[in-house]
Amino acid sequence: MDFLIPEELKQLRESARRFVTEELLPLEPEYADKHDIPDDIRARLQARTKELGFWAFDLPEEYGGGGVGVLGMCLVFEELAQCNVPAFRAPSVFTPFLGPVLFHGNAEQKEKYLQPVIRGDKRTCFALTEASGGSDPTRMATRAVADGDEWVINGSKIFITHADKADFVQLFARTGGNGREGITCFLIDKGTPGMRLGQKFELMSPDRPWELVFDNARVPASHIVGEVGRGWDLAREFLGMGRLIHGPKAIGRAQRALKLAVDWANQRNTFGAPLASRQAIQWMIADSEVELHAARLMTYHTAWKADRGLPYHMEAAMVKLRCDEMMMKVVDRAIQIHGGMGLSRELPLEVMFRDARSRLITEGSQEMQRMIIASELLSGRSAIDRIGD
Ligand SMILES: Cc1cc2nc3c(=O)[nH]c(=O)nc-3n(C[C@H](O)[C@H](O)[C@H](O)COP(=O)(O)OP(=O)(O)OC[C@H]3O[C@@H](n4cnc5c(N)ncnc54)[C@H](O)[C@@H]3O)c2cc1C
Repeated sequence: MDFLIPEELKQLRESARRFVTEELLPLEPEYADKHDIPDDIRARLQARTKELGFWAFDLPEEYGGGGVGVLGMCLVFEELAQCNVPAFRAPSVFTPFLGPVLFHGNAEQKEKYLQPVIRGDKRTCFALTEASGGSDPTRMATRAVADGDEWVINGSKIFITHADKADFVQLFARTGGNGREGITCFLIDKGTPGMRLGQKFELMSPDRPWELVFDNARVPASHIVGEVGRGWDLAREFLGMGRLIHGPKAIGRAQRALKLAVDWANQRNTFGAPLASRQAIQWMIADSEVELHAARLMTYHTAWKADRGLPYHMEAAMVKLRCDEMMMKVVDRAIQIHGGMGLSRELPLEVMFRDARSRLITEGSQEMQRMIIASELLSGRSAIDRIGD
């Protein structure tokens, strides 16, 4: 077994760390509790990451990306996640929010939608969840009905991140059938008559997702990605990679929280001695480090599988489950070690805590991850049997 991280990825991580420390962390106090950064700051930071050669570092080289692979992406996202600003978490400063769907588009769709997103000229969003329940999106009620060369869409989606900023929407709607069959993926331009923003969701975390309403919105048939009725495969691919990416994001934030806790324990005196000398505090720190280490190994292993084209569906569910729970615990302990200051808005811990809580639900709740893992096991597929495959 080789646990060595390739030299070029270590250098990439080091450069990302420097950029986060020097250019992003100074912005944190002002933007930590806002759901987005102003467009001019985004443009400036994007210009800077392009200049440094970071921009789209994770995307395939044939599309103008850096092609660093999934492990490289995890290493950079881990660094990026140390900075507690939603727009950086999203991560639109180092690379566009994109997902795998558009890579399945035809040449014309790639030209019109994929390439501008990769260049940073357009933004997109992913619209799957409905009020009927995000855990089982295959019961979606949003319908698309063919009418000549167009499709007419009616229904609504909720909790859609960046729906307000997106130049086009990756929408999943039912075009027939039941369950996973008969779901189709459409690309819908901002300003399309019949598509509008509905409710804005004010959440405990800084995220501000939106409702998207479709009232006889007409979309040309040429805006369908892949085949009619085969959209679920695209959504599933998006969700699988999304779960894996929860790993580095949780690790980066937990690492930051642990560092804050260690620094505080060393400098804070109670009863005439540093907190760091107390066993109760040491154990919280030790437990956090152990859990972080385990989460990191799981994540890197899953990334390693993804880079080799091996199946990682179940492992990604385990990564999301374990890493997000780990983050919750590590941030909670860091707050405990800080006492009253841990609750203060002067430190980033309280916003991290609110964010950690939200992550146990977003992109598939913890219960859904357990369901995925159990169903794999109960149908005879164990991660232990395929740890090196
Ligand atoms: C900040 C934020 C951003 C989001 N961004 C997007 C986005 O960009 N695009 C998008 O499409 N969606 C987005 N979502 C939606 C998100 O994916 C869903 O909220 C999530 O999947 C849970 O769905 P739900 O809220 O409908 O809960 P429900 O499905 O109603 O579930 C409620 C609770 O019941 C549990 N539960 C449900 N079924 C079962 C079962 N069979 N057994 C045991 N327990 C069960 C769930 O785990 C959960 O705890 C976002 C959500 C949030 C909060």
